[in-house]
Amino acid sequence: MSQAAEKEKVDRNYRLLSHFKKDRDGAVIVALAGMHGNENYGVAAVRKVNELLEQSGGLTAGEFLGIAANMPALQKRVRYLDEDMNRIWYPSILDKIRRTPTGKMLTSERQQIKELLKELDPYILQSEREVIFVDLHSFSAPGGLFLITPRGERSDKLVGLSTPMIFGIDDALQGTALRYFHERGHTAMAFEGGMHHESRTLTNMVAFLLLLSERFGLIQPALLKDFGAYRKHIRKEAMHLPQKVELVYKHIIEPEDQFVMRPGFENFQRVRKGEWLANDESGQIFSPCEGYMLMPLYQDQGDDGFFIVREV
Ligand SMILES: [Zn+2]
Repeated sequence: MSQAAEKEKVDRNYRLLSHFKKDRDGAVIVALAGMHGNENYGVAAVRKVNELLEQSGGLTAGEFLGIAANMPALQKRVRYLDEDMNRIWYPSILDKIRRTPTGKMLTSERQQIKELLKELDPYILQSEREVIFVDLHSFSAPGGLFLITPRGERSDKLVGLSTPMIFGIDDALQGTALRYFHERGHTAMAFEGGMHHESRTLTNMVAFLLLLSERFGLIQPALLKDFGAYRKHIRKEAMHLPQKVELVYKHIIEPEDQFVMRPGFENFQRVRKGEWLANDESGQIFSPCEGYMLMPLYQDQGDDGFFIVREV
C-alpha cells in the first residue's frame, strides 16, 4: 500500500466512530460528532454508544453510523480552523465542494466536508429508507440541554425524547448541516447536550442517542445495558425545562463589535425586557423582549451573541 493510501485508511478509521448494520430496510441514524472541534464530547458519546451496542450484541433493526466531522479542529480543540463548518452547507457550496479536486479546496473545513460527503452521500442521496441525521453539539454557557429541529411533521417524531425542542433557530442560522439534511427530505436535528467538557453533557448525549435509537426501532431497551439509567438521567436533566420553545430574537456579532456577554447567564434563564445582557463597542446591549436566554456566548469564536426564546 502506498503511503498516501495508508494515510487515507488511518484517517478513515478515525473518522468512522461507529457502524452497526442489522438490515437494509430499517431506519438509519447518522450521528455527526465534532462539527465544531472544541465540542469533542460528541465523539466520546458516539464511542460510548458504540461500546454499549457492542456489549449488547448490536442493533435489533436498522443501521447506526457515527462519524467525526471536523478532524483537524478536533485535534486542535478549536471550533474551526478557517471557517465555521456548520455555516456552509448550502446546496451550491456543497456542489462546488463535490466538483473541486482534493488539494484545491479553499479551506480546511471545505476539505473536511469533501471527506465527510464520501461517507454521507449514500445516505443523503437515497430516498428508500428513513434516514435520521443528528448533529451533536455543546455550548459555552451553563444550563439545560435542547434540540434544534425544523417545524413540520418530521419533527413530530421527536416529541417526548426528554429534550426541549427549539423551533426557528434552524431558520435563523444559515448554512447548517441540519438545514441541508432537512431540505433533502430527511429527519434532521442538532442536539445541544450541555456545556463543553462537563461530564453530564457526555451522559446527556449518550442518553439522547439511545432514546433516539429506541424511538426509531434500532434498539430494544431491555437488551441494552444501562438503558434505564440513561433514560432516568436525561428525564431528570430536562424535568424543569420548557417542552417546546421558539426563537424570538437573535443577537448577531459583527467582527468589529468586541461583543462581551455579561457573566452569569445560563440557558433557559428568564430575562426581562430591557435587562442589561451584554456590551459591545457601541455600549450596553439590553434585551428587546421577555423570554428565556439561550446560548449566551462565553467563548471567542462564534457569530451569535445570544438567542431569546419563548414557550410555544
Ligand atoms: Zn457547535
